[in-house]
Amino acid sequence: MVATLGDYHVHALGHGEGEFTLGRLEEFALQAHKAGLAELGLAEHDELLHRFDGEVWASACRGNRPISLRLGLEVSFRPGRLREIRALATRYPFDYLIGSVHDLDGWPFDHPDYREGYQAWEIDELYREYFRVVAQAAQSGLFDVIGHLDLVKVFGYRSRRPVVELAAAALQAIADAGLAVEINTAGLFKPAAEIYPAEELLRACLARGIPITFGSDAHRAAEVGRELWRAAALARRVGYRSYVRFRRRRAELVPL
Ligand code: ZN
Ligand code: FE
Ligand code: FE
Ligand code: ZN
Repeated sequence: MVATLGDYHVHALGHGEGEFTLGRLEEFALQAHKAGLAELGLAEHDELLHRFDGEVWASACRGNRPISLRLGLEVSFRPGRLREIRALATRYPFDYLIGSVHDLDGWPFDHPDYREGYQAWEIDELYREYFRVVAQAAQSGLFDVIGHLDLVKVFGYRSRRPVVELAAAALQAIADAGLAVEINTAGLFKPAAEIYPAEELLRACLARGIPITFGSDAHRAAEVGRELWRAAALARRVGYRSYVRFRRRRAELVPL
């Protein structure tokens, strides 16, 4: 069922604990193959890009394997980083850039050590602020994919108003800018216990013609492809009949 799918959100470096070696990339590729995937998209966190090794990557790509490798980058979007991100994007021949919002005004809201920060917010205001920054990420023109669209639910704090309403302007910005959103299974293993994005958000994405990619957000080889079959089943249930692949920042639609 997932034989043509790619896992487009994989961190071989983890949060810095992994080494960027050919052996490690081979492990990740092997796991992707075992998981029945056709593509593996490496998307290191941009703050670890200095540890990416272009030569190691090139030799991984030369290897003869059933998995095709793609080079992405997961960028932490902040409104003040536009120039810096534009420069990052030219450092390597990326196939795609994922724009992710991980912090608001310097507060890393997805980090367990900073969880008490939620106390300072009325929850719907927080969701509004989060999606306001997501909209800016989409409008920046810097990205191909929006990462974990509703990451703000990570610890299970749910909005009072329907999330589709709070996200409406962001979804419109994503659609207008022609970006894809990823279906990211890592949320299943967080207190939110749910794929990003929630089903109702994904329906709203489909209604606006927003394409999708798939990602496990693996930080270890064993996590590559994790629950992607559930992501594909969710996409089909919602009504998606295609997803996108990227090569040199050009999207190609593939039947689902
Ligand atoms: Zn991470
Ligand atoms: Fe992320
Ligand atoms: Fe990630
Ligand atoms: Zn991520």
